[in-house]
Amino acid sequence: MLSEKMRKLQGEVVCIRDIFEEGKKMAAVYGAENIFNFTIGNPSVDPPKEVIDAFVKYAQMKPYQAVHGYPSNVGYPEVRQRIADYLNRTYGTNYDFTGIFMTVGAGTGITSICNMILDPDDEVITFSPFFWEYKSYVGNFRGKLVTARCNMQTLQPDPVTFEAAFSPRTKLVLMCSPNNPTGAVYTEESLKAIAAIMEKKQKEYGHPIYLISDEPYRLLSYDKPVPYTALYYKNTLTVYSYSKTLSIPGDRIGYVAALPTVDDYDDIKLGMNGSIRWIGLVNAPSLQQMILLDCCESCVDISIYKKTRDILYNGLTSMGYNVIHPDGAFYMFMQALEDDDIAFCEKAKEEKLLFAPGTAFEGPGWVRIAYPVPPEMAERSLPAFGRLYKKYR
Ligand code: PLP
Repeated sequence: MLSEKMRKLQGEVVCIRDIFEEGKKMAAVYGAENIFNFTIGNPSVDPPKEVIDAFVKYAQMKPYQAVHGYPSNVGYPEVRQRIADYLNRTYGTNYDFTGIFMTVGAGTGITSICNMILDPDDEVITFSPFFWEYKSYVGNFRGKLVTARCNMQTLQPDPVTFEAAFSPRTKLVLMCSPNNPTGAVYTEESLKAIAAIMEKKQKEYGHPIYLISDEPYRLLSYDKPVPYTALYYKNTLTVYSYSKTLSIPGDRIGYVAALPTVDDYDDIKLGMNGSIRWIGLVNAPSLQQMILLDCCESCVDISIYKKTRDILYNGLTSMGYNVIHPDGAFYMFMQALEDDDIAFCEKAKEEKLLFAPGTAFEGPGWVRIAYPVPPEMAERSLPAFGRLYKKYR
């Protein structure tokens, strides 16, 4: 018997996984090469060689208990030190290893923070369109997710809708850049505007408002570097994941990072330790932590995703589709050719094109194209997009 909460969630979500599974069934009938499945963000580029080498090396390392036993709840000190050193060298920060908390990917990084900070009915602001799972990450702790619409011409946060979303119950802001589902990379100007509004609201309400910077796509940026959020706003909690940058989403490893200057730093350290344990994670997988000693700076070959991005963006816009240029991640947001994006996705299936309706991300009238697919598949899909366009125009 499902709980009321679970039934409600399942009823609400336009299930992207279902569309993906439907694509697999279509592939069995029509042949995989004739189905163009752009529904989910499962990395297609192989992990770097050093990642696989590290798995083999550390799995065999003796004594076995040092790698396969329980580490402390927030992770191995030497791994956290290695990550702190990397961040400090790369972004000019001053992380201490005690401010790095190893997590089971970004999903549980965000969940652990929500568990640590939220009381029932506290509010978390995020920018819409947004990654749908944020609803559960927040709702699990009876928090309320409040959305602030982005500027739909640029897909950057809109300072006006953002400021209007605050209330005295706002405890967290949750942002993602490079963004899922839009592919937008938030500019320095956007980060400065977010920071200024948050500083103002912290003063007004007299309590810290933490900014969760969800960054699983940080290294997947094709045109320009991604500004480091924590340098713009003092109370940033950075959530990172190796799922996409090392192509190991099934291995579930990431971290939360807090600079020593965040408000209530000692409480945050205690809170993260308890939170990871109390939500039942106990600790991030120990072997996956250890491999980071050798490859926490690595990244997959992003030139492949860039190639696919360029084929799709150039091909679709030259046909007449409205796509906002995606600078990062492996998603692009395209305007549907009718108001009803769900109906548009159904029509696309007739051409064996599968992608997710924007409604699934609170972006009605748009669709998300997830493109971690081989460039040649993207190329072959263009005639199908052309036929779809002709049905409407
Ligand atoms: N946040 C965003 C924006 C994502 O797209 C994803 C996964 O797709 C996650 C968090 C969860 O990532 P992880 O696999 O690291 O838990």
